[in-house]
Amino acid sequence: MKKIAIIICARYQNCGGGKCLRAMRERHGGFASYPASETVEIVGYSTCGGCPGGNIEYVPAEFIKNGAQAIHLATGLVVGYPPCPNIRRFKTFIETQFGLPVVVGTHPVPLKYLKAHEKLPFWKESAMNQIASEMIGEAPEIMALYD
Ligand code: SF4
Repeated sequence: MKKIAIIICARYQNCGGGKCLRAMRERHGGFASYPASETVEIVGYSTCGGCPGGNIEYVPAEFIKNGAQAIHLATGLVVGYPPCPNIRRFKTFIETQFGLPVVVGTHPVPLKYLKAHEKLPFWKESAMNQIASEMIGEAPEIMALYD
């Protein structure tokens, strides 16, 4: 049993979480490293609290009380436009302050979003593929399922 929590970008606070839950069920994107035989339970779900992300300071403590073993920063932080400028800070802060591993990404990057970002010169500079390799490294046909 793996217990995880998800933090989404507050710009998408009305999101129903459908793509994240699908990816968790099908072990795509940020969930690909969890074996299909292992149950994954969501024990926390929240937004960052809105720019600049004040909830990051507090909400991991609540997740830990509920048994969270890892926190996923939702894919919307990476592929929303503009991408969240604080992803690396969030990851470093949570891992340092709370000792929980942070996975950047939930569902795979939708293929149409990846193609749009790849046209932008600063996408390459952001080196998102280094910190979000599981969600960006999915096979194109899997990414297309999330368009
Ligand atoms: S861009 Fe970043 S800091 Fe701003 S609302 Fe989204 S996740 Fe939070």
